[in-house]
Amino acid sequence: MAEHNKRVAVVTGGSRGIGRAIIMELAEPGVSVAFNHYDPPDDIAADETIRMAKEKGCEIEAVRLDVSDYQAVHDYIKGVGDRHGGIDILVNNAGITRDNLLSRLKEADWDAVLAVNLKSAFNCTQAVARSMMKQRYGRIVNIASVVGAMGNAGQANYAASKAGIMGFTKSIARELASRNITVNAVAPGFIETEMTAKLPDKAKEAFLGQIPMGRAGQPEEVARVVKFLVSDDAAYITGQVIHLNGGMYM
Ligand code: NAP
Repeated sequence: MAEHNKRVAVVTGGSRGIGRAIIMELAEPGVSVAFNHYDPPDDIAADETIRMAKEKGCEIEAVRLDVSDYQAVHDYIKGVGDRHGGIDILVNNAGITRDNLLSRLKEADWDAVLAVNLKSAFNCTQAVARSMMKQRYGRIVNIASVVGAMGNAGQANYAASKAGIMGFTKSIARELASRNITVNAVAPGFIETEMTAKLPDKAKEAFLGQIPMGRAGQPEEVARVVKFLVSDDAAYITGQVIHLNGGMYM
């Protein structure tokens, strides 16, 4: 932990789904979490995350911020670090899909997915790295996807962004290891969230048919792996991609 007497975490995309579950795993007295979210015009989901985290005794704050905006992210992370005296944990979780087959994939959908899923990790990680290096402590977890390892028809943009996350994770892990900063990725398979709820039934069935355990994963199952990776028990784990998919990819 940094010199400040609490654990400070930044989680991107914390208003719902896996991000919210990660916040709930981290939430306890003595922990301060800052999260962001972006799209809906209202803050209903973000407010619910705040309420749930406060119930667990956690200090929590949220902003509406586009993680693909380089300068806005740097200003935001600096603000969080200044207010709390440092940042211990960064979870790069925010992500989107804009699926289509290659022949129909629009340039804008390629750019948006790469920006929100991959450039965001660069933005946030670069912004926290200097202060983590100074304090000689940090835990960074990037949320990848099984699709980044396997590929998936109709998700070339998404798969490229998640494969990029894996390469980014390993490179940054090598750069930051000597400063006691671990950098790992978690690659979930098919997890029940709003992201997968919007898939057509046929696509859901196709995913489920590929899972030896015969069921979708839950956001909490991803969150518990993230919690382990940011714990002292995982101090010697860095540069790894932890797959979590019911056996879909081995
Ligand atoms: P989700 O339910 O759609 O939630 C996505 C979160 O990201 C929301 O909080 C959303 O907030 C935020 N977000 C989206 N665009 C953003 C932006 N530009 N700036 C800031 N925040 C933004 O998705 P999920 O299923 O929990 O997925 C979370 C992560 O896990 C993603 O990286 C996803 O690729 C990955 N993953 C998911 C699955 C799965 O099966 N669900 C599998 C593998 C990997 P707003 O709605 O407010 O924008």
